[in-house]
Amino acid sequence: MRRSFFVFAALLHDHKAAMFSSKIISDFKEWKFHHPPSYAQLPIDRNPEYNQPVAVKNAVFSEVPTEPITGKLSMVCVSEEALTDILDLDPKVADTEEFINFVAGSYLPEGGLSVSHRYGGYQFGYWADQLGDGRAHILGEYINSKGERWQLQLKGSGETPYSRFGDGRAVLRSSLRELVASEACFHLGVPTTRAAALVVSADPTVWRDKTYSGRARQERAAVVLRLAPAWYRIGSLEILQRRREPELLKTLVDFIIEHHFPKIDATAEDRYVQWYEAVARSNLDMVASWQGLGFTHGVLNTDNVSLLGLTIDYGPYGFIDHYYQHYVPNSSDDGGRYAFNRQPDIMLWNLEKFAEALAPILTEDQMKKIQDIRGTLDQYIKDKIMKTYLLKLGLQEIKDGDIAFIKQLFDMMQDKMADFTGTFRQLAKVNADKLDDESLLESHWSLAKVGGDSRWPDWVQKYRQRLEEENVSEEVRKSRMLVVNPLYVPRNWMLQEAIADAEKDDYHKVRLLLKVFKNPYKVNEEAEKLGYSAQPPSWAYGLKLSCSS
Ligand code: AMP
Ligand code: MG
Repeated sequence: MRRSFFVFAALLHDHKAAMFSSKIISDFKEWKFHHPPSYAQLPIDRNPEYNQPVAVKNAVFSEVPTEPITGKLSMVCVSEEALTDILDLDPKVADTEEFINFVAGSYLPEGGLSVSHRYGGYQFGYWADQLGDGRAHILGEYINSKGERWQLQLKGSGETPYSRFGDGRAVLRSSLRELVASEACFHLGVPTTRAAALVVSADPTVWRDKTYSGRARQERAAVVLRLAPAWYRIGSLEILQRRREPELLKTLVDFIIEHHFPKIDATAEDRYVQWYEAVARSNLDMVASWQGLGFTHGVLNTDNVSLLGLTIDYGPYGFIDHYYQHYVPNSSDDGGRYAFNRQPDIMLWNLEKFAEALAPILTEDQMKKIQDIRGTLDQYIKDKIMKTYLLKLGLQEIKDGDIAFIKQLFDMMQDKMADFTGTFRQLAKVNADKLDDESLLESHWSLAKVGGDSRWPDWVQKYRQRLEEENVSEEVRKSRMLVVNPLYVPRNWMLQEAIADAEKDDYHKVRLLLKVFKNPYKVNEEAEKLGYSAQPPSWAYGLKLSCSS
């Protein structure tokens, strides 16, 4: 029985492989969308005055043509893996006119259907009503040679009914930050949307007040090509609940379950309960992966929480340099609502809003079941984060006393201003029995800081004991640690340098960053020369980002 199952599985695999034989396309004119895209089954608003801000009703999307960026266009960089592994494209297409025009919004390949998505959201804790894709267009769907379905989206591609007071544009600095982070997070094991290409115009036509100082200046428009299986957010449901469109809410939820959650039986009576739990857990898993890397999203509003559990909308995010639990990368977040250490609680708050948005289509019994699930989520995320930190130390089992054990390490890091990424990486480099050897610690710049804390010998003692309890050999410890503790993360100062060069049309650094983050666990000579795994320069201290993008 088992054997025949395997034979059957192997045949199925061959059949699938034959169906989707891998084919790399080197002439972009031959590349086509799958037609029709699945989202065409959902109601689409077709207002001829597509680029006027308007409260859209009874639709999930609005059909909107792109407003291409103009002037002399340059391809700043591409993610070669995204092009080949997702879009079946030879990276050489990146410099062709068709592809550049495609990313700039002036060429829509066959089978495309350009739409902007309608959604609302809670921003900084307050209901903000209709938001929607104010500067993004989903162009179409592509089914790749592996049989995966991807939606291609341009960001910065012009005004839509959702533009509100915005101009529909994006500038180079924020676009570069989004592309690099999407790809770096992917390689760091964070569930995320992807980014494939970035095009910039030579003409400075976009007014931005970067520091909100009252002195706006003109910047160049840029467009990022983003990729995701779909772009639905908690806010996609919230707008339908708020506007009292329960039938459409049900249609959309059923559609998402059917198309994006194959493990859930789309005809099951308790499908919404199962779905709630799946979405909640995947978003909490995502947050746990952020906490493990010192990643802070910066704007964790409900419109920026994906229903597929993916990191979405990279804006004023930051990876922590010297550890500070209340790290806030976003200069507009005065209250620190979206600080690093608040992300788990904020996600739980967002998931409460998710349950509220679903309420109109739930029975009382289903609501009660969802309440029960919500009651388990706090412990779920705590355990996930604890496991993440234990694994960063080469351990696997949660034991009594671990909360205090982990807290002590973070307290020392914070008090000694030790680096988040550097400390864990360097812990993997020094033998556990040498961790209190001062001369060894000195050659590891971040570990040397934590090692100077008076509580360090005690902590090292506990660490050795924990390793012994789980029977972890030095070899196993290191091999586990070196694959979860990166050497390089996209730190704000590195991005600032790449942005400064890119503003002068020098794209070497941004392209190098993409190369380095393809394998953030492996030494890269050029990255080392630029100090990417060294102590950050002093000017990086306290660097913040604005939402102006
Ligand atoms: P974000 O903070 O980037 O997630 O954006 C929040 C909302 O503001 C979304 O609805 C965006 O589409 C919209 N938005 C941000 N920037 C612009 C812009 N330049 N033009 C139009 N809409 C924008
Ligand atoms: Mg957003």
